[in-house]
Amino acid sequence: MALASEQEKQSSGPGEPGGAVHTIREIAARARTAQASWAVLPYAQRAAKLKKAGRYLASHIDEITETIHRENGKLRMDALAAELLPAVLALSYYVKRGRKFLASRKLRGGSLLMFNKQGRLVKKPWGVVGIISPWNYPFAIPFSEAVMALLAGNAVILKTASVTPGAGRAIAGIAGAADLPEGLFTHVEIPGLEAGPAFISGGVDKLFFTGSTATGKEIMARAAPCLLPLVLELGGADAAIIRADADLDRAALGILWSGFSNSGQSCGGAQRVLVHRDVYRPFLEKLCVLVRNFRAGEGEDADLGPMTTVKQKEAVEKQIAACLAMGAKIAAQSAAPGPAVPFPPERFIPAMVLTDLGPEMPLMTGEIFGPVVGVCPVQDDDEALRIANSSSYGLTGSVWSKNRQRAREIAGRMNAGAVMINDHLMSHGLAETPWGGFGDSGLGKTHGEAGFAEMCKTTVVVDDVLPGVRRNLWWHPYSEKVFRGIRAAAAFAAASPLSEKLRSIPPLLGIFFRYWTKE
Ligand code: NAD
Repeated sequence: MALASEQEKQSSGPGEPGGAVHTIREIAARARTAQASWAVLPYAQRAAKLKKAGRYLASHIDEITETIHRENGKLRMDALAAELLPAVLALSYYVKRGRKFLASRKLRGGSLLMFNKQGRLVKKPWGVVGIISPWNYPFAIPFSEAVMALLAGNAVILKTASVTPGAGRAIAGIAGAADLPEGLFTHVEIPGLEAGPAFISGGVDKLFFTGSTATGKEIMARAAPCLLPLVLELGGADAAIIRADADLDRAALGILWSGFSNSGQSCGGAQRVLVHRDVYRPFLEKLCVLVRNFRAGEGEDADLGPMTTVKQKEAVEKQIAACLAMGAKIAAQSAAPGPAVPFPPERFIPAMVLTDLGPEMPLMTGEIFGPVVGVCPVQDDDEALRIANSSSYGLTGSVWSKNRQRAREIAGRMNAGAVMINDHLMSHGLAETPWGGFGDSGLGKTHGEAGFAEMCKTTVVVDDVLPGVRRNLWWHPYSEKVFRGIRAAAAFAAASPLSEKLRSIPPLLGIFFRYWTKE
């Protein structure tokens, strides 16, 4: 709810090692006290507070959209469609479904031999959850994580990226409107380099990190000595497979949106577009026409905004230069923005389609994270899958085809946490679909029931349902008879022929009454 105080922010500044650790430790201690009373509230009361936050959010949509636009540079349309809308959908979905996600669940018995045991899963909040989020979707990503964490009964300490603190302040404003217990939600503004040690040593019980693969690996190494549970949502270099039977107009529009919206600064944007050779030329032509018509600038008619930072623009330009030096060609690019744009021209990169790509080029091996899409011809589905799955990343992907059945088969063979058919990237906005990749794309899930489950630790409670039981069959005292009985139990469970099962029944029955007898 509150920002870290001025004093805390000063004590966490660079040059004072340990300051940020101290800050987070104090905030975590307050959060822990608040969490204890929050977690015991009935779900309906927690949900009611979050609904209040939702009403505040609904009445501040324009203001928050403007904050994100000004701070991050993304177009208002990108802020609205890919930040505000998913946030609102997530809030209403989790408020509605949270009670069910948190309900304890009976386990079905696994074997007749253990008929007397009944397991039940009980979900509990972790306690204090840390969230560290990136600048590319500075609002939607931490917002939905904070909502899930709070509904599950946790306290939250949020650190948004240092270049987008306004989005974090907007979330703090929304949390403030929810009238949460003092200290339950805190947005902190500390430098990224101090955030890892601060959150890990500062006493959070679980850390949700979204950002680059390099930082994710660094956090994981730091978290290892204390075995801090982590969810890591990291980079991506998504493949899109365009089959010969695809609707090429739709595919070109879909690749355009997923590759170039948010100026291509989307972890799950299409980057490597693998097109069946029979439709390679017509598809490329359609995409190139769309890209050449892209309007860079500002306002409701613009298609492409600036990069969020000059540093990111330079990083992308370096990768483009490396691809070109290795033989790639620019098949199309968009025009420069007009003069009336409030962001400096040095923040803009044209939207660009690259072809003639080789397997060693940065576009094929790494994450570009800018408005650049590479298009390669492929012989068939198998070659497309081989190239798609050759990446060290495995975040999302897509298959474009009118043959739904075949598209589903190919989707199932892609090494990615989410694969969309005739669409790309948008599943991040579906609150019910889990999000999270493989390999260099990270660990664990956010969103959906699986993402909600990450906000809880699960205890299994195993009970004995037989009345009057004194002991289990395998407890002491051991004897030859008990040995033979337990051996028969194993044979009963393992042996498939009925004759063998029948042979194991007498020794098993011989020890059955141990449940109730004294010896
Ligand atoms: P980043 O790793 O530089 O920073 C992410 C966050 O971590 C920021 O809040 C930053 O201040 C903080 N940070 C920086 N150094 C840190 C450290 N040593 N310890 C702890 N925290 C530190 O990433 P970024 O440039 O902000 O974001 C872009 C990256 O995020 C891209 O690689 C993108 O693919 C990825 N991303 C992934 C997802 C996903 O869901 N998988 C979503 C959005 C962005």
